[in-house]
This record gives sequence, structure tokens and C-alpha cells, in this order.
Amino acid sequence: MTEDKKAVTPSPDLANPLLRPWQTPFETPPFAEILPEHFIPAFEQAFVDHAAEIAAITHDPSQPDFANTITALERSGKLLTKVSAVFYDLVGAHSNPALLEIDKEVSLRMARHWNPIMMNAVLFGRIVQLHDNRASLELSGEQMRLLERTYTRFHRAGAGLDEPAKARMAEINERLAQLGTHFGHHLLADEQDWFLELGEADCEGLSDSFIAAARTAAEERGLSGKMIVTLSRSSVETFLKTSSRRDLREKVYKAFVARGDNGNANDNNAIIVEILSLREECAKLLGHPTFAAYRLEDSMAKTPQAVRGLLERVWTVARSRALKDRDALQELVAREGGNFALAAWDWRYYAEKLRQISANFDDAAIKPYLVLDHMIEAAFDCASRLFGLSFFERKDIPVWHPDVRVWEVKDQAGNHKALFYGDYFARASKRSGAWMTSLRDQQRLDGAVAPLIINVCNFSKGAGGEPALLSPDDARTLFHEFGHALHGMLSDVVYPSLSGTSVFTDFVELPSQLYEHWLEQPQVLRQFARHHRTGEPLPDDLLRRFLASRRFNQGFATVEFVASALVDLEFHTQPAAATKDVGAFERQELEKIGMPAEISMRHRPQQFAHIFSGDHYASGYYSYMWSEVMDADAFGAFEEAGDIFDPAVAKRLHDDIYSSGGSRDPEAAYVAFRGREPEPDALLRRRGLLDAPEAA
Ligand SMILES: [Zn+2]
Repeated sequence: MTEDKKAVTPSPDLANPLLRPWQTPFETPPFAEILPEHFIPAFEQAFVDHAAEIAAITHDPSQPDFANTITALERSGKLLTKVSAVFYDLVGAHSNPALLEIDKEVSLRMARHWNPIMMNAVLFGRIVQLHDNRASLELSGEQMRLLERTYTRFHRAGAGLDEPAKARMAEINERLAQLGTHFGHHLLADEQDWFLELGEADCEGLSDSFIAAARTAAEERGLSGKMIVTLSRSSVETFLKTSSRRDLREKVYKAFVARGDNGNANDNNAIIVEILSLREECAKLLGHPTFAAYRLEDSMAKTPQAVRGLLERVWTVARSRALKDRDALQELVAREGGNFALAAWDWRYYAEKLRQISANFDDAAIKPYLVLDHMIEAAFDCASRLFGLSFFERKDIPVWHPDVRVWEVKDQAGNHKALFYGDYFARASKRSGAWMTSLRDQQRLDGAVAPLIINVCNFSKGAGGEPALLSPDDARTLFHEFGHALHGMLSDVVYPSLSGTSVFTDFVELPSQLYEHWLEQPQVLRQFARHHRTGEPLPDDLLRRFLASRRFNQGFATVEFVASALVDLEFHTQPAAATKDVGAFERQELEKIGMPAEISMRHRPQQFAHIFSGDHYASGYYSYMWSEVMDADAFGAFEEAGDIFDPAVAKRLHDDIYSSGGSRDPEAAYVAFRGREPEPDALLRRRGLLDAPEAA
């Protein structure tokens, strides 16, 4: 077998930095040396290596055992993992046209590479044999979980199907990979094609920082000296919140909700129809009535009924709050002498006005106190108090862009634990949003491997030599992503496929959303929210209003989220034949739930990248809310202990949640931490939806 392998494996090209051992500190990727043209040859080598490793397992003449099958699988594909991590980090955080072109090719070749592995009958036969005999294998808890996860993964990919069904599954997977990439590229193209130029007279209500961003955006499109609104969410939402020009708000809003639905070359309607029909076919091949039933079988929620139960409970309460809020906003319109019915492009503007009138609070008042560097320190400080971590900035680690900062993370005993990369600022080469990812995951299979963890955000740089300042939403995002980062850095498992965030999608937002709670603690804000010029701490009165504003407009925010989650569920529950006209289906479903006309879905179908640009969140958009049921309940453990850093609770949080990765059943892990199941109404209370409506 090894003879064969040598014959087909071309010798690695040592001029390619992706194929050389890395001589950098902590063996981090040497970003300065890595060029787009290195990726395809590196992927090709990685595919060949991986295929040979799989062949070695399937050709092994000895009886399958845990070591020669499951552990061998865990050891396989190292180069592929390494090259993919660098590639996808760059595609998201610092791409260019060459890299995006390569991305198209890689997505298809990735599907072609994985299909024969995930549907390999011999490999699956070995896994099944071990799975059948699992009770007698004397496995550790983590090994048992790994065996079950491996069996499930292969079974759900169609490894147990007959040959014609497998061939069809392979075709479907390839087509879905292409369709998902097209969906994303269409959306990007529609977003890039549109902008609204602002004249001097069009800037009523806009803040200086918005105008500065509008000028930068124009410059990036070769329109120096002009100002434009773009279709990025942050640009649109800020404009809708602050522009007093109702006519322009309408224009921007309509363009935003039409992305991917313009009947042009970037139209996503036909793609959605094809994706849904292929997903349905795939679910049926695997013996499930619908894609949702298939997808949710492998989640905490387990069934579409359980997801619907949660969403409908939240929907009823949120919708009635939103309708009350709508009446208050309509009253404000009338009070100001407006003679029109509140429309979707008015909601954010009047909600913001109402907040300023009734709570005397707007984001601009608190921003000078939220200095990016101090908020990073705050996130680190909480991790130090909870988990004993310490952070040391390193200037000698190669990065993909000069703005990226790196910290070495050490544990309580001063041992190296991880590297943390923070890439905080928006730039043209970065996709929008915020995320956590890794360049290397923690594992202990062949000696300890320390993780390389990344947070990417899209914050604005400080203007004119001032430090970068965050909005309250930005600060929350910073803590959210750092919560994911801790999940990766504190991971303490043996096997790589169970590392860190390798957990169910409806569990993965628990560590991140839970971490946001510490930002909202007066003792944290008093220490770290200091005025960027005077150094004065946040005044108590402003602090109170900031904390109260967390609950402001939650009817709206919850309605736009839950509507998207419910429509996602319906798309994947109803027969694909019922969704042939995407627009009509959307209208029908929204009518069924009584969607307020003044609110649109957070993601209309043609823009719903979570569920159509890849299938990670397909019939899984509810996951954020499922995790929120737990995080709203989990923080209560610290409140009940009377100390937000209580050492005993923090130790359980570390052991049961942040360090255990996918090595345990998530429900059991939660119950071990909390001593009971989560209390479902904690989420509604946290969003302020169970109290009487307040003006602010
Ligand atoms: Zn998240």
C-alpha cells in the first residue's frame, strides 16, 4: 500500500510556502510569503495526501479497531485542514479578485474530493462494525462520543445508501456547492452595483462619522470627493435610523430589501428553487420526509416541531409588543405633524427619535466612552477573572494585514495556551459582518497542539488621530466574538474533530452570547468605559440609560429575526413544489403569521446567505434563539451566586461548556453546568418582552 502511495504522490513543491514546515514562532502561517497562486497546487497536494491516508485505512487487512479506523481518520487530512484554514481566512478577511476566482474552483473540487470519502463503503463498513460493538470496546467518554459522531456524520452523508443513490447524492452535493457559491456571488454583485450619491442637501440628520464613512465609501469606488450610501447593512441601518429625508430613506430601504431579487443577472430566485428541490431530494434519499426533519435530527432541537414551538412562543409575545410600539411611533409621526402612515423605512428613524425623547439616550452619547482598546482590555480582563487567562501582545507573529494584532494567551500557571489574532477594522478586502475562526485547532492526539484563534470585525478606525470608538452594538459584537474565541482557546480535548466550536449549531452561540452579559455589568463598564479624551468613567446616569436601552425596540428586533427563522423552517418543511414562486411563498407565509406591514424579515429569501449560500444554517437560523434560551438562563447562575466572577460557577462554566468542545452531549453539558434544564422564559425576560411595554 505504501508503495502505491509513493507512486501516485508527486513530491511536494518546497518553493510553495503552504507545503513547507513553518519556521515562524509557534509555527504560524508565514502570510507575507503566501500568494494566491500557491493555493491550487497546495490543495491538489492536500487532496492526494488525504486520499492516500483514507486508502491506507480501507486497505488495512487487520480487523477494524478504534485506533486503526477512528483515530486514523482523526489523523488524516492534516495538510488539507492547514491549507483550508489559511485560504478561508484570507477569502473572508483579505480577499482579492484572484482569490475569489480560486474560491469558485475550490468549492467544486472540495465537493468532488469529499464525496468519495464520505460515501466510501469499505470505510463506512469498518465504522459500522465498531459502532455496533461500541459497548464492548472499553472506550473513554470522549472516544465514545467521537465514535458516535463519526458514525452519524458518515451515515447522514449517505455512506449507507446503495450505489445509484450514492451517485445521485454526489451529483446533488456538487450542484449544491456551485449553487451556494453563485448565490453568494450574486448577492455581493447586487450590493456592489448599487449606491446612492448624497448631495450636501441630503445629509440632514446624518452624523459626522456617517458622513466620513460615506466619503470613504465613495473614494473606494473611485468617486473621490463625493458621498455615497452603500448597501452594506451598517450603512443602510445607520442611514435609516438617522436620515430625516423620508424620500431617501424609502429609496435606500427598497434597494436593500431587493438585493438578489431584481430580475437581473444577479437574481437569486431560480437558485433558491433549485436548491430547495435538491435538498428535498437529498433528504428523501436519506429516508426523511423533509429537509428540516433531516437537518434537525442532528441538533439539540431534534425536530421541526420543537423549533416551531420555541419560535411561535417568542413570536406571539414579540409581535404584540411590536404592534404596541408601532402605535407609539405612529403617534410620534402625528405629533410632529406628519400626515402619513408609518412605513417600513420609517420605523428605525422614529424608534431612534422616541428613544432620544423618552430615554434621553442615543448611541452618540456613549460612544466617546467606548474606546476599542479599552473594550479589548475589558474582554481580556473578564477572561482573566473567570478563567485565569493572561494576554501578552506579540509583534513578531506574521499577519495577513498590518491592522491585525496578535496576543499570546497564557493559562493560570503561565503556560502557553493559544495565540489570539484580532482583526478589528473594516476595509474593502474584507466581507461584512463579524466572525471567529481558527488557523489551527486545539488537540492532544499526538502531543499538545495549541490553537491559533481569530476574531474578525468591521469597526471604523478613529478619524484624525483619535482612537477608534465603538457603538454599543460594536462593543457587544466584540464580546460576542471573543466568547467564540474563548470556546476555541479554552478547548481541552484529545481529538481534533471534537475541538472547540465543533458543536451543534444551536449550541455554538451559547459561549458567545453568554459572554455578552459581562459587558453589560456596571462593575465592568465603570472600570473600562472611560472617556477617550478626559479618561473619566462613564457617568452613572448614562450607564443606567445604556443598560436600559438594551431592551429598547426589542419587539421590532425579535419580530424581524423570528420571521426569518420561521420562513426558513417553512422553506425546508413544505414540499419543494410549493416554493416554485419564491415571492408568492414568502408573502403567503408572512401573511399566515400576521407579519406587521411596517417590519420586513431580517433576511428576505433572495438575500438569506445563512441558509442558501451553503447549508450550514439551512433550517437552522433558529439556532441563535435556541442558544439564547440557554445563555439568558446561564448567566443567572452567577447572579444567584451573588458574584459575576464567582470562582465555583466559573470553574463549572469552564469545565462543562468552554473547554469541552464537542466531546460531550450538549444537553448533558448544560445540565452539568446549571444543575437543571434551562428555564424557557429567561429569554423573553432578557429581551424585556415579558414586562409591560416601556417607552424606552
Ligand atoms: Zn456568533
